[in-house]
Amino acid sequence: MTSNNEILFERAQRSTPGGVNSPVRAFRSVGGTPRFITRAEGPYFWDADNRRYTDYIGSWGPAIVGHAHPEVVRAVQEAAARGLSFGAPTEGEIEMAETLCRLVPSLEQVRLVSSGTEAAMSALRLARGATGRDLVIKFEGCYHGHADSLLVKAGSGLLTFGNPTSSGVPEDFARHTMVLDYNDSQALEDAFARVGERIACVIVEPVAGNMNLLPATPEFLQTMRRLCSAHGAILIFDEVMSGFRVALGGAQSLYGITPDITVLGKVIGGGLPVAAFGGRKDIMRHLAPEGGVYQAGTLSGNPVAVAAGMTTLKLVQTPGFYEDLGARTTRLANGLSQAAKETGVAFSAASVGGMFGLYFAEKVPQNYAQMMACDKARFNAFFHAMLDEGVYLAPSAFEAGFVSAQHTDEVIDATIAAARQAFEATK
Ligand code: PMP
Repeated sequence: MTSNNEILFERAQRSTPGGVNSPVRAFRSVGGTPRFITRAEGPYFWDADNRRYTDYIGSWGPAIVGHAHPEVVRAVQEAAARGLSFGAPTEGEIEMAETLCRLVPSLEQVRLVSSGTEAAMSALRLARGATGRDLVIKFEGCYHGHADSLLVKAGSGLLTFGNPTSSGVPEDFARHTMVLDYNDSQALEDAFARVGERIACVIVEPVAGNMNLLPATPEFLQTMRRLCSAHGAILIFDEVMSGFRVALGGAQSLYGITPDITVLGKVIGGGLPVAAFGGRKDIMRHLAPEGGVYQAGTLSGNPVAVAAGMTTLKLVQTPGFYEDLGARTTRLANGLSQAAKETGVAFSAASVGGMFGLYFAEKVPQNYAQMMACDKARFNAFFHAMLDEGVYLAPSAFEAGFVSAQHTDEVIDATIAAARQAFEATK
């Protein structure tokens, strides 16, 4: 019997490149047919064949309180009934800005936008405008959205300037981005020693989630903070993924390191398009209309999206929310590791707050090279075996996973039981 997912995928490919609106959804890395989702509730979603899956991507992070949370849905319905978009300021935007500034240590002011890409791109322009410098440092394996300056990989040889990772990005742009190794403090020291006076900013995922899960070492972030301060460069933490995910105050609150600019997205929109960037007032004052760095958006601070985000931010402030979420995620990581051990599969798992990493490697990888050495074929087999068991993991060996507050111990234990079968199938 042909599956409805296959029929939809065929049809989608006729009108949309690759049949999807964001590449990772196409299952290119793992093979097979993407599931077309019809509805979601709590920790689950259902596909076009009405099969239920326990969802461990949660819309790639936003669904931290679970899908279709009744309070969030109600807030969205009420906001929608008052009008969808005004193109003029609202009190909700002030409340959102105040909430973000209260909860995230580095924020004195924020600007709301509609995607993480937009937020990171704008943060970069702001850093360049505020410093009057062009050079950006990023790290291999970190993703900051698809702005030209950030779709760059390391050039050949140490301390060379970057090459585009996408066609359509001019080499001239890429030359203003230097790409270094994540968790390599010495490479940072060398870069600042060589061109410190030209560096506008360093942008980093303090807990990287775009090369599977890879937390920065405290020493790496401390080195970055010290070098940026010493050379007048701006330190940007991209917390689009880690913000309100690894802790209420983001990774910066876990590490006790305060960046100059923070980029947020995902959770702060609760599943609708809200992202933000913000930081110290003396930097933020460079933004239009106060300063000369231009940035704008027709749907920025959209009232319906802000209602979803604010309700989500209210729910995550429930006492004990992150303790519970962290405990559930640890339960999952430990349970999966144990199941792998029992079946004799070389596997490890790690988690930070509500984010986890699964690695087909004996030990948890500590850098990009170790991450890339994980057994991708094994992961792909495991992914499909889990899918058959009704568990939806990120369809790539190099993405992090996400747990929501609706993933109860029972849900997690059922996943671990499924994994035991799946590990057997991948041996
Ligand atoms: N930064 C990070 C750390 C991200 O994980 C992502 C998206 N996965 C982005 C930026 C881009 O966000 P968006 O997809 O909303 O443009």
